[in-house]
Amino acid sequence: MRSPSGNSGPRRGAELRELGIIENGAVLCVGGKITSVGSTKDALRDPWVKKHRKKIREIDCAGKVVLPGFVDSHTHPAFVSPRLTDFEKRIAGASYEEIAKAGGGIRSSIDAVRRAGKSELAEKVLSALNEFASHGTTTVEAKSGYGLSLEAELKSLEAIKAASALWPGTVLPTFLGAHVVPPEFQRNPEQYVSLICEEMIPLVAKRKLAKFVDVFCDKGAFNEEDSLRILNAARKNGLQVRAHISQLTRTSLERILKLNPLSLDHLDHVDEADIQLLTKSKTVATLVPGANYFLGLRDYPPARKLIDAGVAVALATDYNPGSSPTASMPFVLSLACTHMKMTPAEAIAAATINGAWALGIEKSKGSLEPGKDADLAIFDVKDYRELAYWVASNRCDSVIAAGFVAAPR
Ligand SMILES: [Zn+2]
Repeated sequence: MRSPSGNSGPRRGAELRELGIIENGAVLCVGGKITSVGSTKDALRDPWVKKHRKKIREIDCAGKVVLPGFVDSHTHPAFVSPRLTDFEKRIAGASYEEIAKAGGGIRSSIDAVRRAGKSELAEKVLSALNEFASHGTTTVEAKSGYGLSLEAELKSLEAIKAASALWPGTVLPTFLGAHVVPPEFQRNPEQYVSLICEEMIPLVAKRKLAKFVDVFCDKGAFNEEDSLRILNAARKNGLQVRAHISQLTRTSLERILKLNPLSLDHLDHVDEADIQLLTKSKTVATLVPGANYFLGLRDYPPARKLIDAGVAVALATDYNPGSSPTASMPFVLSLACTHMKMTPAEAIAAATINGAWALGIEKSKGSLEPGKDADLAIFDVKDYRELAYWVASNRCDSVIAAGFVAAPR
């Protein structure tokens, strides 16, 4: 995944297809970092390797594909239970908005999160992280957003922190207090926005519980004005910003892009003007087709248009109990190929190096290059295209995170 042109910046256009495959390759990791990447022949001739051969733990990957561990740049793991009633209602024909109006949707996860103890919630997050790893993911962005009170949001972020400490991969926490307006503020949503801006964000920043602030800017959640107010408060408190936007209805991206979000996510309803703005920006367009699949939508985000126009595209699971209950990046790759007409190579680059750009960690994650973290995923397939080909089957053999072999299977 080394950049073919040496360009710095997320992969765009034809560069998204360049995987930089090394046949019969070898990766040498020391002290949690990658120190060299090249052919096995060269690695065996390396004087340092010769001298230390006995101390080196060798993992035989013959006949397999080794990738940088997936970087899942959009997940919501801080919840307690699956939403099975909503699932059945949707099967019977109810829409996302109808379910939300009937007290389902995001709001139905709030009670359980508010009631849960921190350690109970941390256990849920940890079991999700282990599931991510079992599918080849070594870096996860993890959002709060099912507590929606000062106390329950802090508890969610603390649970994410506690779970990350027990997981060999890397977790980047995001504060998503602006997921929806909780029931007790239904009559006065502005008061909730003030609570987010004036109390929650400053405290989250002060306690260093999140790297990013996210907002759900859409019909039924937060309007553009409130979203901008929240993201501005985040920046004022030294936090980077990202947003869920244009999933259900279009919001012009003009004003939000001025805040330099690291990523804008979903983007089902972007128009030509939005695409032009994205092309010129450094912001990554993170597409989450698992949500379209699970909601049974016919339409998917316009990946082909975005990529061909030169927008930097990433893929993520959007792991969450309401609209995308999957931790599997290979499944998302499959959806990206079958429903969004991305090539398997584009999907892999979007799920690794561009995911790293979407989180601002491109210097340490997303490709196998000397100096980067020793995060690798080994797949029991002969050809990288099989990752997107075998639908709903897990071919991940094992993952290595920060040099530690995690053997989830
Ligand atoms: Zn989401």
